[in-house]
Amino acid sequence: MIRFENVSIAYDRKSKPALDDVSLDVQRGEFVFLVGSSGSGKSTLLRLVLREYKTPHGQIYVAGQNVATVPSWRVPKFRRGIGVVFQDFRLIQTKTVFANVAYAMAVLGKSRAAIRSEVPRVLELVGLADKGHRKPTELSGGEQQRVAIARAIVNQPGILLADEPTGNLDPTTSAGIMEILDKINQNGTTVVMATHDEDIVNSMRKRVIELRHGKVIRDEPAAQYTSMIPIVAPAAGQGAAVEPSVQDDAEPQTRRQRIVSAAQASGPDEESMPPRLVRRRDSLPVAAVAETETSMIEDLK
Ligand code: ADP
Ligand code: MG
Repeated sequence: MIRFENVSIAYDRKSKPALDDVSLDVQRGEFVFLVGSSGSGKSTLLRLVLREYKTPHGQIYVAGQNVATVPSWRVPKFRRGIGVVFQDFRLIQTKTVFANVAYAMAVLGKSRAAIRSEVPRVLELVGLADKGHRKPTELSGGEQQRVAIARAIVNQPGILLADEPTGNLDPTTSAGIMEILDKINQNGTTVVMATHDEDIVNSMRKRVIELRHGKVIRDEPAAQYTSMIPIVAPAAGQGAAVEPSVQDDAEPQTRRQRIVSAAQASGPDEESMPPRLVRRRDSLPVAAVAETETSMIEDLK
């Protein structure tokens, strides 16, 4: 459903890569936690799935499509297959709960009849059947996140991306949100959730992909937040047993050359880039903003 092949990306020429040679494969129907401390690259990875940036190096496939080859005019349609939930809910404050969710259908041109039947169905699913008339300001944080989830799934996306969805919520409320995400996953939606909430990860026992400094350092099924495998500093001459997934398959020099040639071959379109997103002079690929910059949420405003 989601496949990354040696994906590297940097935001500007001075900074280190936000993602560094990331490869992973998420199957249809999986639930995956993306963990790692702040700045490890979780949000960048999710943005790449949404094609918010073109990737100069590496390949990304989402639902069988090579993301880089989706023409810009088709990006909004491509994103309709992906629901997104953020830490800060991003609801339209002036609209009711019902209208927030309905709007996601209306922008796709769905009929009134469809809206009238689907919106109550998803509000029921997230436990807000009786709160459709309220405004976001009249809801608790957990309830607002439920609205955001309802909005994200109302068009039945195959994938749900959640970027620290419990980051602003207390543990009890977070547990309720996790129940909903689990239920959505059990209904067949692939869920990728970025988080650094240890308790949640430990309680769910799902697949865990851990990022550190933009690299995948762990990919474990039914795992806990902290690996049971001790990660120790690699000693000179020691092999993959020390920290398996950090090992590079090629020598640094070779890999660097590979990245340089990839960046040169499919370099970003300089004209369409804002100033901070420029090609790195010292070789690493840089995030070129996709022509259609709006995220799914922007489409809703
Ligand atoms: P996480 O979501 O795990 O906290 P991010 O993907 O947001 O990590 O960030 C990864 C790295 O990229 C960090 O070093 C961060 O500072 C940098 N970064 C993220 N977004 C931007 C941006 N818009 N411009 C420049 N650097 C960024
Ligand atoms: Mg983040």
